[in-house]
Amino acid sequence: MFKEGDYVLIRYGEKKYLKRLTKEGSLNVRKDVLKFSQIIGKPPGVKVGKFEVYEPSLEEIIMLGFERVTQIIYPKDAFFIAFKLGIDKSSVVLEFGTGSGALCAVLSRLAKEVYTYEAVEKFYKVARKNLERFGLAENVRFHNMDFRDAPVEEGFFDCAFVDVKDPVPYLEKVHRVLKTGAQVGFLLPTANQVSELLKALDGLFGSAEVLEILVRYYKTIPERFRPEDTMVGHTAYLLFTRKLES
Ligand code: SAM
Repeated sequence: MFKEGDYVLIRYGEKKYLKRLTKEGSLNVRKDVLKFSQIIGKPPGVKVGKFEVYEPSLEEIIMLGFERVTQIIYPKDAFFIAFKLGIDKSSVVLEFGTGSGALCAVLSRLAKEVYTYEAVEKFYKVARKNLERFGLAENVRFHNMDFRDAPVEEGFFDCAFVDVKDPVPYLEKVHRVLKTGAQVGFLLPTANQVSELLKALDGLFGSAEVLEILVRYYKTIPERFRPEDTMVGHTAYLLFTRKLES
């Protein structure tokens, strides 16, 4: 049952709102008003007038609830990243940089533990607040530190994800802290960065793959079923590879 303080996802036609329930709170859309006191004590999936109220999904939490102070990894990419890295409840995951914490939130949902490093104090604080607000921070070890300076044990991590401007200078350290054969992924906005990284992997990492993910949503009007007019085009290239030891 919904209670005061819960975050809820409210749908009004095509519009989506993420709100925190308070007894006095309300949402006004056009001429319709949803008083939050009408929702408290009701189960998720309740309809009140034209409003539908649900528990928010992780995607909705990230897209509607997270403060964004950096570019973020979109859920369409983040869930695939977690799948490619083979993350499960036994995985100890390395991530840098944390940015706004969007990828970190997905990793934290799936992994045993996430060690995340962010060089800029402001971003570190926002990411931490984003995850704490939605109860996603319990298994996350946040570090306000350049990964270059992170004191980490050799062979400690089951997998890693790197989202920084130029990952090449960190390759040797990433190699050192991963278990042999472990997966590591990189996000790269431009094609020339992919080429640079592919060259630099030689001798350290094998089994490289590069891909991008395009997702096209459709209008859900039965009589006018067709793709949405706009879509997110290129977000980034994803490169996955595995630690090699000779
Ligand atoms: N993946 C993040 C998300 O989904 O919210 C966004 C990451 S953002 C694009 C890149 C971040 O890497 C920036 O916040 C930057 O400050 C941080 N960064 C860059 N180099 C770093 C380093 N060597 N160690 C730690 N953080 C670093």
